[in-house]
Amino acid sequence: MHQMTLAEIARGLADKKFSSEELTKVLLARIAQLDPQLNSFISLTEDLALQQAKAADARRANGESGALLGAPIAHKDLFCTQGIRTSCGSKMLDNFKAPYDATVVAKLAAAGAVTLGKTNMDEFAMGSANESSYYGAVKNPWNLEHVPGGSSGGSAAAVAARLLPAATATDTGGSIRQPAAFTNLTGLKPTYGRVSRWGMIAYASSLDQGGPLARTAEDCAILLQGMAGFDANDSTSIDEPVPDYSASLNGSLQGLRIGVPKEYFSAGLDPRIAELIHNSIKELEKLGAVIKEISLPNMQHAIPAYYVIAPAEASSNLSRFDGVRFGYRCEDPKNLIDLYKRSRGEGFGPEVQRRIMVGAYALSAGYYDAYYLKAQKIRRLVKNDFMAAFNEVDIILGPTTPNPAWKLGAKNSDPVAAYLEDVYTITANLAGLPGLSMPAGFVDGLPVGVQLLAPYFQEGRLLNVAHQYQLNTDWHTRTPTGF
Ligand code: GLN
Repeated sequence: MHQMTLAEIARGLADKKFSSEELTKVLLARIAQLDPQLNSFISLTEDLALQQAKAADARRANGESGALLGAPIAHKDLFCTQGIRTSCGSKMLDNFKAPYDATVVAKLAAAGAVTLGKTNMDEFAMGSANESSYYGAVKNPWNLEHVPGGSSGGSAAAVAARLLPAATATDTGGSIRQPAAFTNLTGLKPTYGRVSRWGMIAYASSLDQGGPLARTAEDCAILLQGMAGFDANDSTSIDEPVPDYSASLNGSLQGLRIGVPKEYFSAGLDPRIAELIHNSIKELEKLGAVIKEISLPNMQHAIPAYYVIAPAEASSNLSRFDGVRFGYRCEDPKNLIDLYKRSRGEGFGPEVQRRIMVGAYALSAGYYDAYYLKAQKIRRLVKNDFMAAFNEVDIILGPTTPNPAWKLGAKNSDPVAAYLEDVYTITANLAGLPGLSMPAGFVDGLPVGVQLLAPYFQEGRLLNVAHQYQLNTDWHTRTPTGF
């Protein structure tokens, strides 16, 4: 039962092969049995799940239908869930029970999805390995000595280990696509503004975007359908009609123009990954796609620009965690300044503190022009590169990551080494474009992802290409041994 995709679950529920309650019980038991090896959940919500499952079964019995009605999922622990701990992977919010549901959570609940729990993540979504979580590192089900990627590592490990079919995640610089690549999943970061950020605890507001993590493009279409749409509560939400993503899956790829940036195949890329990317290109050519070499000349500046902009926004967003209104408060503060200093010093972990320091520095009066303003200008150049490329091609294709998942602890002493691994993903966030990662093969038994990028609001095109690819390849069907 645990091997079923969302699409298969939807068919099984519609055909009354099993109930949502039965399925939910099976998956909760599986989580209890297997998650101690992975640490992919911060909180389990068994009571809520069973209650939602029974309600979904009752709605079906009354004639309602829907792909998410009774479908078990989990939320990354930065989506606010009313009355349920929403920790953001931080000691700072260890005691925080959100007073309301994030729009994404409310929309999925209304569609009948069943919440099994809240998944582990890098603290405040800062990281690429899920090792900065206050609740401990998450293990990669493909090799328990390796990281699952981050920051949505809990969602990725749980779905890859077949603890549940799909989960929500967020992507500020790659945190949906990179863990998807590291765990053999399909993950979609939508266009900025496509999915509401209301109730999604902010890391870098101009880059953050929620999206689905699942095993197939077909399932990403189902989950995205439930997440996307205009929200008046989010001032950057865009009022653009939401297409039927499942209906977009079956288009022909005949004549599809795929751009492959020459800058992607530089020295930093593992040659074995380069080979798998070339294989995926050949596969898409067989389906009728036309390949064209393109250039993204400003790509090399993207990492430095991102690692100024994201910390700058984070330092501002995280100033609200002061030990006064909510979150962690230190013991016996001597005075107000002591309360602030110790609450923040004890509540935030080292990576978060590093980013707050970098961000505050970059925004300070004497340095604003030299760092923040400069980074914003680079951001525009990165966007312009994409706009020029999309005049010539329909999709941009390349690796999701330069290397497969590294060993736990391998990059802990050198944060910049981890930042460099984001080279292929962060440009989409800087430009606000949609991107998808899908399974493309294995290196040393570890999964490798191929990334597709599309123009604004062309999530349907990404899902279409990924689905056609998945109809003709079987990488995405591989299951990690032991799960
Ligand atoms: N690795 C990137 C960072 O640490 C991206 C994280 C994310 O997308 N949330 O900022």
